Amino acid sequence: MKKLISILKLSLILVFTGQLAAQELKHKSASDIYEELEKFNFLGSALYVAAHPDDENTRLISYLSNHLHARTAYLSLTRGDGGQNLIGTEIRELLGVIRSQELQMARATDGGQQFFTRANDFGYSKHPDETLKIWNKEQVFEDMIYAIRSFEPDIIINRFDHRTPGKTHGHHTSSAMLSVEAFDAANDPTVYPKQLKSLKLWQTKRQYMNTSWWFYGSREKFAEADKTNLVGVDAGVYYPSRGISNGEISSFARSKHLSQGFGSSGGRGSYQEWLELINGDMPSNKENLFDGINTTWTRVKGGEPINDLMAETLNEFDFRAPSESVNNLLSIYDVLKKMPDDGHWKEIKLKHLSEIIVECMGLHLEAATEMQQATPGDSIEIQIEATNRSSILASISSVSLNNKDTDINGALEENTQSKWFKNFGISQNTPFSNPYWLNEKGTLGTYKVDNPKMRNLPQSPAAFEAEFQLDIEGRKIQVTKDVIYRYVDPAKGEIRQPFVITPAATMSFSKDMYLFAEENTQTIEVTVRAGKDNLKGKLKIDHPKEWVVTPSFFDVDIDRKAKEEVFNFTLTAPKKVSEGHLKAVFQEGETLFDKTMISINYDHIPLQTVLLPAESKVVKVPLKTGGKNIGYVMGAGDKMPESLGYVGYNVTLIEPSTLNTANISGYDAIVIGIRAYNALKNLKLYNEKLFGYAENGGTLITQYNTSRRLNFDDLAPYPLKLSRKRVTDEYAEVRLINPKHKALNYPNKITSKDFDGWVQERGLYFPEEWDSNYETIISSNDKGEDPLDGSILIAKHGKGYFVYTGISWFRELPAGVPGAYRLFANLLALSQNETIDP
Ligand SMILES: [Zn+2]
Repeated sequence: MKKLISILKLSLILVFTGQLAAQELKHKSASDIYEELEKFNFLGSALYVAAHPDDENTRLISYLSNHLHARTAYLSLTRGDGGQNLIGTEIRELLGVIRSQELQMARATDGGQQFFTRANDFGYSKHPDETLKIWNKEQVFEDMIYAIRSFEPDIIINRFDHRTPGKTHGHHTSSAMLSVEAFDAANDPTVYPKQLKSLKLWQTKRQYMNTSWWFYGSREKFAEADKTNLVGVDAGVYYPSRGISNGEISSFARSKHLSQGFGSSGGRGSYQEWLELINGDMPSNKENLFDGINTTWTRVKGGEPINDLMAETLNEFDFRAPSESVNNLLSIYDVLKKMPDDGHWKEIKLKHLSEIIVECMGLHLEAATEMQQATPGDSIEIQIEATNRSSILASISSVSLNNKDTDINGALEENTQSKWFKNFGISQNTPFSNPYWLNEKGTLGTYKVDNPKMRNLPQSPAAFEAEFQLDIEGRKIQVTKDVIYRYVDPAKGEIRQPFVITPAATMSFSKDMYLFAEENTQTIEVTVRAGKDNLKGKLKIDHPKEWVVTPSFFDVDIDRKAKEEVFNFTLTAPKKVSEGHLKAVFQEGETLFDKTMISINYDHIPLQTVLLPAESKVVKVPLKTGGKNIGYVMGAGDKMPESLGYVGYNVTLIEPSTLNTANISGYDAIVIGIRAYNALKNLKLYNEKLFGYAENGGTLITQYNTSRRLNFDDLAPYPLKLSRKRVTDEYAEVRLINPKHKALNYPNKITSKDFDGWVQERGLYFPEEWDSNYETIISSNDKGEDPLDGSILIAKHGKGYFVYTGISWFRELPAGVPGAYRLFANLLALSQNETIDP
């Protein structure tokens, strides 16, 4: 039982250090080492709990880790799949991969660790009741209890208030509600008893909510509020040994959330953080979050001598020569080794101390390959390096690669680089590298992860690990490093990235979706990438049975690894409405491959390789269109132009700055992208031209904007008032309240069936008041709420039309929702003469 616990904890720690090594080569400076010694000397832990990447208060996490020196972790229930991506086109699960990495980079900056659960960020949720139903509360709670029982926090800090359901995002309130419930449940033997085979019960001592004036409505109200139940700490401390203040570290960490545009500037000077006591006893010293909790070495049996030894080590630490501390640290190592196994601190501290000793010696240990990727059955060369930059006596007794021993050993002479080159066979049953939560198909609310030990991990462990067995002044010390891919980029210098195991063949379709509106036959382009030399096999496409694909297969023969070849299939759609998926399958002998490989490459995170099913959606939409030439003004970014192109529109992107001089009268309709008036400050300056275009007979369609700092005359020719009202349930009933209106009849006859199969939501930021010039056509609402009629507002404007719409076209069209295409086609055709038979 003890052994199981240690393996788990070890793997948690390895993941954190591993992901940094993949990004940059960095040894600790003397003052960094001193900081580590102070953290080593503190035996207390804090767990911060919220719902999404970017919910966390990096200022408080940094304060806990760097000022108090506590083991600090952030448990983000989700990976933020549902957010917007401000730096690229990745959305949903791929955005979740990016945000998981951004969180780890944030933690590498503020000194915390990162955990997750299986909960999926499925989009905005108005109420925790809905959230907990979609998430599968039992599973998410199980993962939270697992995190608490393995991390053993003394204090838990919630970002959100558990007492205000319905007032904020349902994910937020749910995170706090689950956390409050978990406070005692983690210590209840009847709760997830199976976990107790490898973990102990754990009673957290105190639970706080990280409050602020925001929760009180205003700074004034907060200033007057009763604070007897609050603890306040000054989180604006300055760290002279690092030349940086806590607020600055916090903003560096926050700025790692690049995909969310959370770059922030450094705060300096005193800053009060407030914590409201939710559970446990009030500290008598209201400035110390850990007051009354033993955080010294007397906390663990046999640890007492370390108190004095550490006092001496810290006192004698020589910033000019950290290696002078190694002898003291080895004495501490001896005491730690002799301590009875407590299933927690001993393992954690031995690991930490080993790392500190190695850093004091400036001992560089690395295992790298010059290949980024290999397949099971391949052989790779691994270069192992050890350089001891101190006079401490040390040698390597062995190095093993994924538990396979190599014959590497020898003394590590002072400041002498030692290198070994080892050929290493990758066994046929080695798993492919992939974010573990994406290996199997989950539900809308939860990822499917069978192994409970994986569920809290921020990322998958590295494909290969090198375990160095060292002998330092007679002590056996073990250090584990990820095997990384290392190369020299002429522009950037030496780069370190994760080394990955991939399938021998991966396939990709040229489009995520093939839409068939008027024509019935299209060419389907499938690219096969060889993950190894001499890839031979058959490529075929699995398809819904009413569709026809020719030929039935291609013979594939690719001579070189990483080479790609394109194969063209012909796909014929059935006459009637049909939806389904195409799946590319590659057969090599008896082995089938059916994955596509996606590389996510940004400078601020390690290179991510993701394997997803090699699929593409096919949809036959009975769609009629009137007017083909569409002008599109891109706002905050969406995939509407491509989506409209799929069904035969000619879409031209219009640069707003060219609007005044451009001739736009030739467009059949002009569409303004999502949040354009929020994102483009100057767009309102061109309204005269845009509204004039409608007045002269065009159709101008403006998609949703948020109400922040916008007045109606910034975006519409007639008054309307934006609200934050939305319909989040994609199944919510939609009623046709103006069935005779042209927009519901021409060229496509719209019925309630057209609102089936929608994704994520109906729409957002609907206007709540509007001028009598507008007509409404549909009405909808979430369960138990008042009808909202403002999702599509249509005004006759001169000879043409102005349309304002908060319907989530930007989600429905890229997802291939037939009814959404049919209704949007009608809006685009508003100014067309009714020449097509409906
Ligand atoms: Zn959030």
